Order: sequence, then C-alpha cells, then structure tokens
Amino acid sequence: MEDTPKYQGLRKQLIEQLREKGIQDNAVLEVMTQVPRHFFMDPSLINFAYEDNAYPIAADQTISQPYTVAYQSQLLEVGPTDKVLEIGTGSGYQTAVLLGLTPHVYTIERQQLLYKKTQRLFTQLGLRPKKHFFGDGYLGFEQAAPYDRILVTAAAPEVPKALLNQLKVGGKMIIPIGENEQFMTRFTRKSATAFDKEKFGRFRFVPLLQNKS
Ligand code: SAH
Repeated sequence: MEDTPKYQGLRKQLIEQLREKGIQDNAVLEVMTQVPRHFFMDPSLINFAYEDNAYPIAADQTISQPYTVAYQSQLLEVGPTDKVLEIGTGSGYQTAVLLGLTPHVYTIERQQLLYKKTQRLFTQLGLRPKKHFFGDGYLGFEQAAPYDRILVTAAAPEVPKALLNQLKVGGKMIIPIGENEQFMTRFTRKSATAFDKEKFGRFRFVPLLQNKS
C-alpha cells in the first residue's frame, strides 16, 4: 500500500472541507492530514477515500464519514497521556486517528471477520494499539479501566452503564445515542456517582450490537 502525492493532495482538500464544515481542533486536523484513509477502505472503493462520506466495509459495517471522525475526535479532547477506549474498531481508521493523539489506545470489535482483517492491517501499517480485541463493547474492558476517554463509534439506544463505570473521575465519553437517528452525546464524570451530559449534533450510525452470539 502506498501513499502517493495524489492521495496527499486529495487529503489536504478533504481537511480544508472539514475546516469549512466547522472542525477547529488543529491537533485532530493535523493527524487526519497524516493518516491515509485509503489504507482503511474496501479495495473497490479506494477512489472515494477522500470524499466526505461513510462507505461499506466487511460484515455490513461502515467506515465512518471523515466529518464524523473529526467531530467525535474533537469532542473527545484527547491529551497525549490519556488512556482511551474505543468501542467499534471497524476499519481501524478512527483507531489510527486516536493513535496519532495518544499511544494509550484500547479498541474492541464485535465482528470476527472485521477484527481479523483490521488486525492484519494494523500489523502491516505498524499501528500498535495497547490492545485490539474481539469482544462486546457493551461491557467495556474492565481489566484496563478506568479510562480518561471512551469513544463509541456505533449507535446505542441508551448509554451502557458498564462504560460509564469505567470512566475516570474527570473523564469523558462520546457516544451517539438514539434509535433511527442519534444525538452525539458527551458524558463527563464529575464524581463516583455524578455525570454531566451534553447533547450535540445529529448523526446516523450503524447500531451497537447487543447480545450478539
Ligand atoms: N470506527 C469505525 C466505525 C465502524 S462502524 C470506522 O471508522 O471504521 C461501528 C463498528 O462497531 C462496526 O465495525 C461494528 O461491527 C462495531 N460494533 C457494533 N457493536 C459492537 C459491540 N457491541 N462491541 C464492539 N464493537 C461493536
């Protein structure tokens, strides 16, 4: 896989579009300028890698729209020492963006096929999350908790309690909440028992799979 001047040019244009659409976080935009999204696309759709759209990947899932990746990453406010848990590895593109912001990234995927594919891709690209595993993100990952940040990249009808419990005090979680349409929502843990909840824009995500065998 190669990153060519053609792709670099298209990527710069995409980042300009994200700025025009209101993304302001320079750290996030800088990382997205570096990460070749075409590495994470289905090979048949590679020419669309720098369009601001979601596209199908394996197992009926999607690679998130770049605007959505930028929006979620911006709201997450990741610092370089933060421990981040991502639910829904999917293509691994958002994981790669998070790894540009902090080395302490844990990521969970529910579809075996995607998990295996992305595992190979991470190795090939030299991307090393602290842990990438096949499992149910509804439960989070207790072994490495608590987290400074949790990012959910699939839609939940309501916030999974286990994830709230795995946040540090002062920690933040970004999660799209709703059925057909979701509100981007940010939870900030204020104390052992208190959480702030902020609602942002509307999005459409694939559902977070619950009780999948
Ligand atoms: N960040 C990914 C988004 C992929 S779409 C990307 O940009 O490519 C959401 C992903 O969440 C899918 O890969 C889906 O299989 C996964 N997913 C759905 N339910 C899940 C669950 N309960 N636990 C972990 N991952 C889940």
